Amino acid sequence: MMYKSVFSISDDSSSLVKAKELGVDVLFVSSRNINRDYLNKIRKTLPGVRVYSEIPVFLASTPQEFPDAIPILADGCELSGTWNFLCPSNKQVRSKRLGRINELLKLSVDGVWLDFIRYPGRWEGDNPEFLDVCYCDSCLDGFQKVIGALLPRSHISETSSFIRKNYLREWYDYRVEVISSFVREVKGLVGAVNDHVDLGLFTVPFTSNDYDNAVLRVYAQDHKALGGVVDVVSPMVYHRMTNNPVSWIGNMVNYFSSFSPRVLPLVQSENRLSEFGPEEFSQSLSLASHIPSLGVCVFHLEDLVKQPEKFSTFRSFSSP
Ligand SMILES: [Zn+2]
Repeated sequence: MMYKSVFSISDDSSSLVKAKELGVDVLFVSSRNINRDYLNKIRKTLPGVRVYSEIPVFLASTPQEFPDAIPILADGCELSGTWNFLCPSNKQVRSKRLGRINELLKLSVDGVWLDFIRYPGRWEGDNPEFLDVCYCDSCLDGFQKVIGALLPRSHISETSSFIRKNYLREWYDYRVEVISSFVREVKGLVGAVNDHVDLGLFTVPFTSNDYDNAVLRVYAQDHKALGGVVDVVSPMVYHRMTNNPVSWIGNMVNYFSSFSPRVLPLVQSENRLSEFGPEEFSQSLSLASHIPSLGVCVFHLEDLVKQPEKFSTFRSFSSP
């Protein structure tokens, strides 16, 4: 079966009607919008459609959600910006997210998709952000345990340069493990609570050759390790947002298929960074859903509704 899916960012009933019009098999919904009532409404409007809940993991909904988990940069300053990135080693964040995933599993969603399952930084756009982060107490305490040595801790700028000079490889490995261990914890929870649920994750659409392996060094996403833990890997192959030709999508599907037998890519509908028409959108759908891909998910539904030509392109789209 091909997965024809769309991501809805709203909890409005009119979105559900539009999803029905598209004839999707899977609806992605943000965990922030999911509760029993809304889920019942989805089941009623879209019978038989699988509901996958996205959950932003190391991202706060507001700066107030986790004031103690603000990532610390190499110079000791707190990370600021429009996105509320969180420190991935923070115990409170990890346990609250696991708690929410537990709730979603009990609500009987059909899938849980981990989003922002990485260290901070914006990969979208012309100039991806490659931040040197996080040097908070939680991260440094954890790292000291791993290396079995004490770090100079009087000034963070001194600590960070000491690490870079003496323990760079170990630092990268440590950060990767902070991310991977959380995914394994979620996998354990799914197995214990509701193992009919698909576990997926949204991955940064970079290969190890891009930006000198920034996906591992900076975002700490080890696609090979993670592909072995989750059921489905969903690279966000937003070609315009990353300044790539549409053909790049096919290459990325093949690349990620080497880490997971089940790949469900997301393509962009939005004219973000640059405008593109329904023809190119149609090409992106075909390339993304081409074997060995499971299908395609369009991000996002509410934007598609604003672009009637792209909407009807996706409505008539079926398995290649
Ligand atoms: Zn930290």
